[in-house]
Amino acid sequence: MIGAGFGGLAAAIRLAALGLHVTVVEKQAGPGGRAAVHRAAGFVFDLGPTVITAHPLLEDLFRVEPGRPRLEPRLPTGLEATHRHVRLAALDPFYRVHFPDGTWFDYRQDRQALMEEVRRVSPAEVPGFLRFEEAARAIFEQGFLRLGLTHFRSHWDLLRVTPQLVRLGALRPLWQLVRRCFRDPKLRQVFSFETLLIGGDPRRVPAIYALIHFVERTWGVHYVRGGTGALVQALVRKLEQLGGEVRYNAEVCRVSVEDGRVTGVRLAGGSRLDAEVVVSNADPAHTYLDLVGAEHLPAPVRWRIRKLRPSPGVFVVYFGFRGPAGGPVLHHNVLLPEDYEGVLRQIFQERRLPDRMALYLHVPTLTDPSLAPPGCHAAYALALVPPWDGRVRWSLVGPEYAQRVLARVEEAGLLPGVRERLEYVYWRTPEHFAEELNSHLGNAFGPEPVLWQTASFRPRNRGEGVKGLYLVGAGCQPGAGVPGVLMSAKITARLVAEDLGLQRTGGV
Ligand SMILES: Cc1cc2nc3c(=O)[nH]c(=O)nc-3n(C[C@H](O)[C@H](O)[C@H](O)COP(=O)(O)OP(=O)(O)OC[C@H]3O[C@@H](n4cnc5c(N)ncnc54)[C@H](O)[C@@H]3O)c2cc1C
Repeated sequence: MIGAGFGGLAAAIRLAALGLHVTVVEKQAGPGGRAAVHRAAGFVFDLGPTVITAHPLLEDLFRVEPGRPRLEPRLPTGLEATHRHVRLAALDPFYRVHFPDGTWFDYRQDRQALMEEVRRVSPAEVPGFLRFEEAARAIFEQGFLRLGLTHFRSHWDLLRVTPQLVRLGALRPLWQLVRRCFRDPKLRQVFSFETLLIGGDPRRVPAIYALIHFVERTWGVHYVRGGTGALVQALVRKLEQLGGEVRYNAEVCRVSVEDGRVTGVRLAGGSRLDAEVVVSNADPAHTYLDLVGAEHLPAPVRWRIRKLRPSPGVFVVYFGFRGPAGGPVLHHNVLLPEDYEGVLRQIFQERRLPDRMALYLHVPTLTDPSLAPPGCHAAYALALVPPWDGRVRWSLVGPEYAQRVLARVEEAGLLPGVRERLEYVYWRTPEHFAEELNSHLGNAFGPEPVLWQTASFRPRNRGEGVKGLYLVGAGCQPGAGVPGVLMSAKITARLVAEDLGLQRTGGV
């Protein structure tokens, strides 16, 4: 296994439960990948995912036992196994969405409470909300419950389900759906911004992503006590209990291929690991072009991988400050800018730093004070920025951009005077993603989730052109975000089991 991100660890757990000898080789000094943890000055910062949704996927993974890799598409109910490893706390409201005029919308789980919020913004929009909810429910049932764990081996697999998806309007842009349901610009933004958290432009992602609304409403939004890092640690322990091993500071520099079949990997230090199966949790462009090598790939695969359009990057400022938050903030906050559509166009189409910032502000110490010294808070503010094509010199621009991000948080009245109260500041740029995580053009979320990079158009989990190679994680099917990545691990483990003849899995 190359990489100990959520995808790599989850797939490794299932493969170890199948009885395979699993070694995870990770470039970094610790596990988690994008979900790694940064500790400094008494603060604990989750570097990446903070919004934990679709908890049945975690429960499913924690129920894996030796000989029982749980590869069938069913998902369990309850949280007993999860709570033996980590503690989840439900958050409600899920998010506070702040608008440029200083008002906000609390995104609630409870239907009645959510309808009240809609009514408060615009009483005439309640029927539109009911239409949106109905459309999102139908898409969730088809797109998540029935098709979520499907591997689209070819466009034929996609064609077979296209009529149902067309009937649900799931292939049209999400923006079209919210425009049909809401006239109020604020509500259009509220019911589509979540795709930004997985690198998708709400104006361009297919409406299948409306399923996120129903995933959250069905199972809630959770926080892992101690931070997302505690979940990563629990997965490492689970893997080790099943006999798997993780080696850190071990960068793979080559996947060895002989006669069209993988034979192992070569590490940066020169050592070699032989393996019948290599599963890569790394970025697909890095996997195919840098590790396997273009010379081993059939021309169409080479072409498709080179053409992959990356999702945007992120610029994230992690900061610790003394005193109370002081403003109208919750655990999860989204700050939407003026000229929202213009900002999206600048990031996603023109691929330049936007004039105004759309921010996600995370203040986990409002739920869990253990992440900061007494009397202090830990927070992060995330700005979407274009992928890194070298035009922005982040090492030069970073310090000033970090100040701009914090100024924006302050000007919006969210954390008054925070720049005067800072105890610690640290930031990460797309350059970090490119250089440390080997992420293609520093993307934060894998290939951009647009229709032509979804399902069979996304890199496949069974490697193409090379036998014994598999992909797992945000770069392959079904897509980015912790739930997507956990699903990809289940799909990939099923494919490996099938190909090795280890388990009849009913076809994938
Ligand atoms: C700032 C941020 C916030 C996010 N917030 C959320 C959220 O709130 N909720 C949510 O659901 N999702 C969120 N996401 C998305 C989510 O974090 C990712 O989709 C998911 O964590 C990706 O996991 P992964 O296993 O695919 O890959 P990664 O986490 O990227 O792991 C890949 C691993 O492979 C290693 N690797 C790469 N190349 C090599 C090599 N050659 N040799 C050895 N190792 C190698 C890397 O070091 C890395 O550890 C967020 C992402 C970011 C960046």
